[in-house]
Amino acid sequence: MSKSSELIELSERRSAHNYHPLPVVIHEATGAWLTDVEGKRYLDCLAGYSSLNFGHGNPKILQAARDQLDRLTLTSRAFFHDQFADFCAGLGDLTGKDMVLPMNTGAEAVETAIKVARKWGYEVKGVPDGQATIIVAEDNFHGRTTTIVGFSTDPAARDGFGPYAPGFRIVKYGSADAVREAIDDTTVAVLIEPIQGEAGVLVPPDGYLGQIREICTENNVLFIADEVQSGLGRTGETFACDHEGVVPDMYVLGKALGGGVVPVSAVAADAGVLGVLKPGQHGSTFGGNPLACAVGIAVIDLLSTGEYQARARELGALLHERLRALIGHGVVTVRGRGLWAGVDIDPSLATGREICEALMRRGVLIKDTHGSTIRFAPPIVVSQEDLGWAVDQLTDVLTEFAGRAVPA
Ligand SMILES: *Cc1c(COP(=O)(O)O)cnc(C)c1O
Repeated sequence: MSKSSELIELSERRSAHNYHPLPVVIHEATGAWLTDVEGKRYLDCLAGYSSLNFGHGNPKILQAARDQLDRLTLTSRAFFHDQFADFCAGLGDLTGKDMVLPMNTGAEAVETAIKVARKWGYEVKGVPDGQATIIVAEDNFHGRTTTIVGFSTDPAARDGFGPYAPGFRIVKYGSADAVREAIDDTTVAVLIEPIQGEAGVLVPPDGYLGQIREICTENNVLFIADEVQSGLGRTGETFACDHEGVVPDMYVLGKALGGGVVPVSAVAADAGVLGVLKPGQHGSTFGGNPLACAVGIAVIDLLSTGEYQARARELGALLHERLRALIGHGVVTVRGRGLWAGVDIDPSLATGREICEALMRRGVLIKDTHGSTIRFAPPIVVSQEDLGWAVDQLTDVLTEFAGRAVPA
């Protein structure tokens, strides 16, 4: 039995089966390349669901983490520490917001945004206590907590986990009219992903985000943008909202904020919004810890030059051009922005999973989202040559499947 088969067998036997990983066991990585326990190399085209935008083992992020590890790792929020101010001020500047509330995971940051919006609704907007509603979109993905899965429309994420928290209205994604119709006096927020990642990298129609902004302003409702996956360089801008020049009231950030090293998430908003929280009303033992802040500061520094955003834009243009050329040759549609693409494979050829397994055998690691959709989101440090090579592998895999489906 190979080393990887042994480890996979033990993992399957001793861990909950809440994931269906590809049968590969990673041992180490640098940049965009991974090596498994047998020494085989793979190009990472998932980047930890965009947690690794700056690459595996990014030297600046690792240096910041190492320096901090040797000095101070945890204080809790009972005390200040010397990385906290710079992290909050830095992220505040990056988002253009007054204040930042650090948490750990994306789901916790979404929960934070929900709590803040409700409190703001009662204390500032004057919604009667216990009545606040939040508008969300179909096919959303905001995390896995009991409250969040309650407003998911994905049966796998939602079913069997009730009773569900009330106070959410689900509307069609991409329709500003649907949001307008769902708003009433109890509405405190509209919570949406500016590009829906888990749904298959769905880009809303042009103008949608701008219309949501207008509707929210007109109705005194907070616009919450969940940029956990779309933010921090992935789309070719710092935030996906930037493509439409739209500024939400609250940014929800996570994934790449932790530099691929530690979980770091945050909510950023102005004082009139985040200022509603008083001591004791919200918190997290690990949120804003020294190691997380040191890594977060390094990430913010990397983004401050615009280099990564520009690179995602340029490589993204190439990726999309190459992928679009496959339409009609096993690919049905290509969506996305920047270095982020959702690719619908012709379902008569193969499932997304089968494509991913075939790509794995050729040294490309990528993950399906739903059905026949696969998602390209390599680390932004990937070379142009390697990126082109990954698309070559997809091209060959599609040709192989087409050969099987239609015998000559
Ligand atoms: C991944 C993700 C989350 C949840 O983040 P976790 O760190 O897994 O809790 C929330 N929102 C979006 C848009 C995401 O992609």
